[in-house]
Amino acid sequence: MMARQLAVGRVMTAPGQSKPKRDVILTLADGRIASVEPRAGGGDGAGLIAVPAMINAHDHGYGIAPIAFGATDDALECWITGLSVRPSIDPKLEALAAFGRMALGGIGATVHCHNSLVADRLEAEVAGVAQAQREVGIRVAFCCPILDRNAWVYGGPSALLPWLSEADRARLSNRLPREVPARHLVAQVEAIASQHETDMFQIQYGPIGPQWCHDATLEAIAEASAARGRRIHMHLLESRRQREWLDARYPGGVVKFLDKIGFLSPRLTVAHGVWLSEDDCALLAERGVTVALNTSSNLRLRSGMAPVQMFQRHGIRFAFGLDGSAFDDDQDFLRDLRLAWLLHNGSELDSRLSPDRLFQAAYRDAFPVVGGSGAYGRIKPGTTADIAIYDYHAMARDIYVDDVDAAEVFLTRGTARHLNSVFVAGREVVRDGALPDLDLAAVENELHARARADLTPSPRQRALIGRQREATRRYYADGAHTKANR
Ligand SMILES: [Zn+2]
Repeated sequence: MMARQLAVGRVMTAPGQSKPKRDVILTLADGRIASVEPRAGGGDGAGLIAVPAMINAHDHGYGIAPIAFGATDDALECWITGLSVRPSIDPKLEALAAFGRMALGGIGATVHCHNSLVADRLEAEVAGVAQAQREVGIRVAFCCPILDRNAWVYGGPSALLPWLSEADRARLSNRLPREVPARHLVAQVEAIASQHETDMFQIQYGPIGPQWCHDATLEAIAEASAARGRRIHMHLLESRRQREWLDARYPGGVVKFLDKIGFLSPRLTVAHGVWLSEDDCALLAERGVTVALNTSSNLRLRSGMAPVQMFQRHGIRFAFGLDGSAFDDDQDFLRDLRLAWLLHNGSELDSRLSPDRLFQAAYRDAFPVVGGSGAYGRIKPGTTADIAIYDYHAMARDIYVDDVDAAEVFLTRGTARHLNSVFVAGREVVRDGALPDLDLAAVENELHARARADLTPSPRQRALIGRQREATRRYYADGAHTKANR
């Protein structure tokens, strides 16, 4: 690969640890940073600031946002009901839109918890997503979805039937999902990896959550992960209802159960962790598990706020994800990072989440989550050339003192709107605020045209799902999930 030189006015060589370096030329070669050299001030690039590219540690790669087909924000379990009318669209087209938008949000790597739950279509879908990854250029950790228990409600789909009207019960009872243990899906993951895995596209096990997988399936995943060294990415204790159902089902606690079957290891990322207890945190820390926080998603789906200060007390690694539910329903990583910072920084005189710890989480802790190895989060010779460059002058236009820490300005004001370019392993995936290799507007137009042409979901389907959503709400309001006979 040819060497590439970038002139910038500021570079965060060690974000949160030292002040940004002024007036630098970065040389990129062979996917790495070859040198960081001083240069004369002014000239091209003087207004720019370079930082390590952002890592989205948990997402689903939506091409069409849930609200577009009527799945408005709600309590998690009610919201999930609305996802069942998601139009089935071409996975490559969907991933192109999703990855393209992420790149424009400053993201150089993402976890992609794939949405399809149709196991026999998964292999073809991976090929489409892998192709989208190559076209857009950001790193992707593809998590193969595995779900074989508790579709609809915790307690199993048939447990919801009494909460529906007689007519709806008849409509839905012939659509009850099958719930047999899906060990074959675990074996399928290696086949998918042998075909599609590259340095930039890593395959992981993606059990959706402990309440959504049979114990035997979780055991098979733990065993396969240990044997192959392959990572696992799973939702854990996102909502109060999950905590309640899991406490009733696993009297010693679900985290202890996971430990007993060998599921907890440094290869594991758990998403959300809003309802983790003090004991859970101690055990996760001991096993080297990483938690992927999803701050806006947790607020939008009324799950609550993750106990970040508890994570820090126990020394748990944590990273930040958007979960496809960023604050403004866009994929602006910086705005969400700021929200996480403000919410978890405490109300005391001293800061409870310092910029240093925030950046460690966002970079160092997050890189292994997307399958990266080696140091991340420093801009120095030898590190991978994953860099996002923002228009610092636009952020700092009115700041007239010279000694303000540019990192503070960046955290206080930076948004996707300020993004200039993104490099991933040396490849320029965003140039002048646009995607050089993809016509994103055309992709989005085609996605929307196809979804509309399919007329999915139909108004009747949506009305039925709306009633199922309300039955789900009544089911949990009654506490049926804690009483269900399993
Ligand atoms: Zn998720």
